[in-house]
Amino acid sequence: MSVLAPRRMARQVSVGGVLVGGGAPVSVQSMTNTRTEDVRATLDQIERLADAGCDIVRVAVPGRAAAEALGAIVAGSPIPVVADVHFDHRLALAAARAGAHGLRINPGNIGGRERVAEVAAAARERGIPIRVGVNSGSLEDDILAREGRPSAAGMVESAVRHAEMLESVGFPDIVVSLKSSDVLMTVEANRSMAARCDYPLHLGVTEAGTISTGAVRSAVGMGILLAEGVGDTIRVSLAGPPEEEVRAARTVLSSLGLRRRGVTVIACPTCGRTEFDVQRTAERVEAETAGIRADIVVAVMGCSVNGPGEARDADVGVAGGGDSAVLFRKGERICVIEATLVLERLLSEIRAMANEDRPGEVSRTSAGGVR
Ligand code: SF4
Repeated sequence: MSVLAPRRMARQVSVGGVLVGGGAPVSVQSMTNTRTEDVRATLDQIERLADAGCDIVRVAVPGRAAAEALGAIVAGSPIPVVADVHFDHRLALAAARAGAHGLRINPGNIGGRERVAEVAAAARERGIPIRVGVNSGSLEDDILAREGRPSAAGMVESAVRHAEMLESVGFPDIVVSLKSSDVLMTVEANRSMAARCDYPLHLGVTEAGTISTGAVRSAVGMGILLAEGVGDTIRVSLAGPPEEEVRAARTVLSSLGLRRRGVTVIACPTCGRTEFDVQRTAERVEAETAGIRADIVVAVMGCSVNGPGEARDADVGVAGGGDSAVLFRKGERICVIEATLVLERLLSEIRAMANEDRPGEVSRTSAGGVR
């Protein structure tokens, strides 16, 4: 029996073919931080994000130049592209015309019902969903005045208002996000929204922080919600390269058994018995195998006392033993290797296994070797 609650069954939308809600796998999103009008730089970053396991990418459309670049970005992107628009409904219309696979816009901020209807009609015509994104830091004045400060209840009220504006013009393909930099407020707001609607929910802790702190804060918030069955698509927001957001999001999902992709490295914490450089080996394995999509668990264990058990349970594992280490593959002891050759041998075993899983494919973008 799963320790996770059954997934909440949200209405389903399609973001350029990636299904969100309705029992579809929880998708991973990120956002580019290049200048959107720099098409080459933006596409290069999207390639790297897709390689890391990003399912849907969002790009900011702050002005006309960015909207004009969007067509080329959509055409060159390997994954669906969502346009992030604020205030100016003309930019949302331009983004829809450019082929964006989804819009992120708050209907209450684009200047009245007529404009909302215009954007909704453009989205409907192209079959693309709209995400209503509420942040605790930008709640409407009347909600703030009544609540006294940002609150989960205020976030839910704001999201409901925006969603009702879209529903009132006959647009149902809505995704909702309720994000706060306060982890517990994010949890409370999403729990409450999940109970009162069937919109798919995009989870995120906004302004979570630097790479390590932000990943932990995001994992705590998302982990609670996902374990309760709440959440259909996720973005880890970090002050760092967006590729790190994707890696963190993937780790959240694999830790909960919701999705597995790529190489998972298990490494012992090291202690006085450690007999080779576990940290460096584990880090190098992680870096060198980042482009592999096959689901492979690798164990790097520092000694022959507690190491062999974990190494045997992994797909590929090593357990140190002085000048040498024992190599395990799928539970079988394969051979003893010199300590200096552990990394090299581990990588060749992983590459061979990746090739068995997906014949001919080692990584998405590198034909010549593992990246
Ligand atoms: Fe120490 Fe061995 Fe455990 Fe690693 S596996 S922490 S070296 S006892």
